[in-house]
Amino acid sequence: MFFGSITLLLSIAIVVLAIIAKIGWVKSVSVFFLAFLTVGSFFTLYTIAKTKEGESHYGLRSILFGQSREHMQDQDQQEIVSVDCRQRDYSKVSRDARFYVVRIDDVQDDYYYKIVQQMIYDSSTLGIKTVVGVIPEKVTRNSPVSNLLNKNKCAFEMAQHGLDHDRVTRNGQEFAEFEILEYEEAYQRLLQGKNILSDIYAVDVSTFIPPENLLSEEATRALEDFSFKHISSNAGSHFDSGPTVYEYHTKKIFDPEQVLSGCEDEWSEKNLCVITIHPQDFTKLGGAIDVNLYVKYFRNLLVALQRVPNAYPITFDDYSKIYNY
Ligand SMILES: [Zn+2]
Repeated sequence: MFFGSITLLLSIAIVVLAIIAKIGWVKSVSVFFLAFLTVGSFFTLYTIAKTKEGESHYGLRSILFGQSREHMQDQDQQEIVSVDCRQRDYSKVSRDARFYVVRIDDVQDDYYYKIVQQMIYDSSTLGIKTVVGVIPEKVTRNSPVSNLLNKNKCAFEMAQHGLDHDRVTRNGQEFAEFEILEYEEAYQRLLQGKNILSDIYAVDVSTFIPPENLLSEEATRALEDFSFKHISSNAGSHFDSGPTVYEYHTKKIFDPEQVLSGCEDEWSEKNLCVITIHPQDFTKLGGAIDVNLYVKYFRNLLVALQRVPNAYPITFDDYSKIYNY
């Protein structure tokens, strides 16, 4: 509608100019149609480009100047997030304070990249430094996710989340990646994963999160002999996972009040609550991002956590610095 009106106005303007220039009616009408067709084609091309690329300012430019998709992704990344990197000063926090860890698991290449980006942005602008569990074999150098993580390191503590996160089948039964591993196999997987994360992100991770929070005894021994300082699983560690936003075996999603009540339970035992969250918790069944779910169950959870009196966000590393874990 908008483009149609502009086309008509421009064409009339050209005809008026033609009349003023005294080139005669027949020629003027021809000029009108020619102008209408030219301007109309230009806007049609623009509209097609816009529909194809999703963003009008990318669409036209990419057709006129041949911009590549990769370049557009770069521009996309420029728009991210200058995260809030202020370090929280815990020295003035009182002895009876409660702490919570926002643990984001399953971070990997192209897997809900936009939602991971939004999660890191929202949490850091609210002053919440998260723990991001990365699956080493599912990230590559310079992918959008890797660039996002590399550019915003101060917004989170990176943890190693398995090696490939794939389930294994033994004797016809399925297990989580680290659930039944022998010592040597576990050691090798930990080493490979740690090397990948160190190559891509130049970090020496100190926290290990086993997929599905399940860890064999032998794997636990391998972790202790390795240089991991913290394990966050369900194996009885101080850093074990507490409430979760979405429970996979019951397919239930929990609202902020329920997660907070889970934290109250944790806080009745110790002063730390580890909340497990996945980017895919906030999607439609087909996999597309569900903005309503994201706002209701993630963004509102962060805000609710901030309102809890005498409760503070923390990472495993920061917690262990205070309490010498
Ligand atoms: Zn996982």
